[in-house]
Amino acid sequence: MKYKSVIALIIFGVLNGCSDSANVQQQAEQTAKAEAIKKSQDQNQAFDNFKNQFLEELWAIYPSYGVYVGYYQHDDQLSVPDAAEDAKQLAFENKTLQQLNQFDVAALSASNATDLSLIRNQIESARWYRNEFKVREWNPANYNVAGAFGVILNTDYKPLDDRLRSISKRLEKVPAYYQAAMANITVPTLEHTDLAIQQNTGALGMFDKMIPESVATSSLSEQEKTQISHNLEAASKAISTYIDWLKAKRETLADGSARDFRIGEALYEQKFKYDIVSNYTAKQLYEHAIQAKENLHQEMITLTKQLWPRYFDGQAMPADPLVAVKQLIDHLSVKHVKRDEFVDEVKRQIPIIEKFVIENDLLDMDPSRPLVVRETPEYQRGIAGASVNAPGPYDATANTYYNVTPLDHYTDEQAESYLREYNHWILQILNIHEAIPGHYTQLVHANKSPSKIKSILGNGAMIEGWAVYSERMMLEEGWGDQEPELWLMYNKWNLRVVVNTILDYSIQVLGITEQDGLNLLMNEAFQERTEAEGKWRRATLTQVQLTSYYNGYAEIYAFREELKQKLGERFNLKDFHNQFLSYGNAPVPVIRELMLKDLDL
Ligand code: ZN
Ligand code: ZN
Repeated sequence: MKYKSVIALIIFGVLNGCSDSANVQQQAEQTAKAEAIKKSQDQNQAFDNFKNQFLEELWAIYPSYGVYVGYYQHDDQLSVPDAAEDAKQLAFENKTLQQLNQFDVAALSASNATDLSLIRNQIESARWYRNEFKVREWNPANYNVAGAFGVILNTDYKPLDDRLRSISKRLEKVPAYYQAAMANITVPTLEHTDLAIQQNTGALGMFDKMIPESVATSSLSEQEKTQISHNLEAASKAISTYIDWLKAKRETLADGSARDFRIGEALYEQKFKYDIVSNYTAKQLYEHAIQAKENLHQEMITLTKQLWPRYFDGQAMPADPLVAVKQLIDHLSVKHVKRDEFVDEVKRQIPIIEKFVIENDLLDMDPSRPLVVRETPEYQRGIAGASVNAPGPYDATANTYYNVTPLDHYTDEQAESYLREYNHWILQILNIHEAIPGHYTQLVHANKSPSKIKSILGNGAMIEGWAVYSERMMLEEGWGDQEPELWLMYNKWNLRVVVNTILDYSIQVLGITEQDGLNLLMNEAFQERTEAEGKWRRATLTQVQLTSYYNGYAEIYAFREELKQKLGERFNLKDFHNQFLSYGNAPVPVIRELMLKDLDL
């Protein structure tokens, strides 16, 4: 009995214990779940607070950067690039990194997790630019104050008199700014020295003419007018002194002691890492691009053979197949709209493209945020072309405009050359890229979970990569009915971004000559000499930026193919696009990681 009862007790105990422990476990699970939700809420709340404080501090330390994105609270401040400023930036970077490390990324929402990665990259990048790249020592074009003054002068965010008061205060630091610039520069490159001389000479007009003209029409008091005139003179003198100093410096560099504008492999790889944020190394992307160029050439040759009899009946194809391709492209390019129909044609196409996207179930469109196609306002007309004007992060309710510049100011010859470039086929691809489902559509999706961080620190390679990806995707899905002429033109267009990547790497890392660069652009990418020379110049003055379009495109395309493999039958193109775009302007590798996690892959 005793024995029995002990057993019974044990059994009871065990049973009881079992159900007890099951309860405990359940409770523990529930508690853990509740704690996780609570933690996630706390973490996200804390992160939202951190972001606001981070941006406030960022604009206080970088007031000009703030002015460019529409944050005007520190518009009267100009930071002087000296040691004290360095120390301030460094302290801010250290503090921010420490704060970032305190967050549990796994507990953050996808939107906050991507914001965190963007902030971290921004901080690490700023640090690298200062400590390793040392751009302030060798790039004199790094120093130019005119741009932010221009934004303050020409943007109507408060009355002119108040803007001029901010300008007057801001001007006080200009002499110290250029003193610091001259102290920082050690051995510059010839190319960036020339650029700095040219750009700062151009900047003088801001202080000698544009601001004084506005002061004359203002209602500032006589005393204020005297003060700002005095400050303008001092600023102008400081810039002139800088220009003279650069010219003298340039003389001393003529003996070959200037720094090479090519940054070399080690710095290039690092800069690529921070500017692009890619799963590829720069070298891998370059090799990828070489292969892509070959593939495009082969496709273009095949299409040319197919189309040749239609356009050159009875005429033999040139022996060099790339010469034949060029001849056919030139021949086809005469098909284009009349110069005074250019803007109307863009307006006509947008709704047709939109209809195609909807009918083919390619991705969600948002009729509540329509795209307004308009002629580019006069004050924004620099070079002709088309671009999407996104509302700034501090003005998110404004319209999205598709600015198209009419060809009014062109000579007949210039208009003809432009229209041949943006011919019947390329114009369609341009509209896809800029508007639907390119930049405009991407922007609408990104704004569904608005993030100031993503609009300010957004990843350029993802943004441009999406627009380039959308071109090919549209053609693959049947835009243009697989017309071989359209594919030929598309291949030429795509070849440009591929060859930009090859050119940039070849110049900056492999050290090719100008002649080799021009040959690549003209003979292998079918570009005109003026365009090729412009591209060469740009590639000597910037590094890595030219690779961003192709990198983003290649990564998005590869990711799509990867998901097709992994999901098989379950893969749906529309779902892929909607989900991909829902993460906003984050780097493609970050989106990929989050998406694979969300899809449980
Ligand atoms: Zn023509
Ligand atoms: Zn673009």
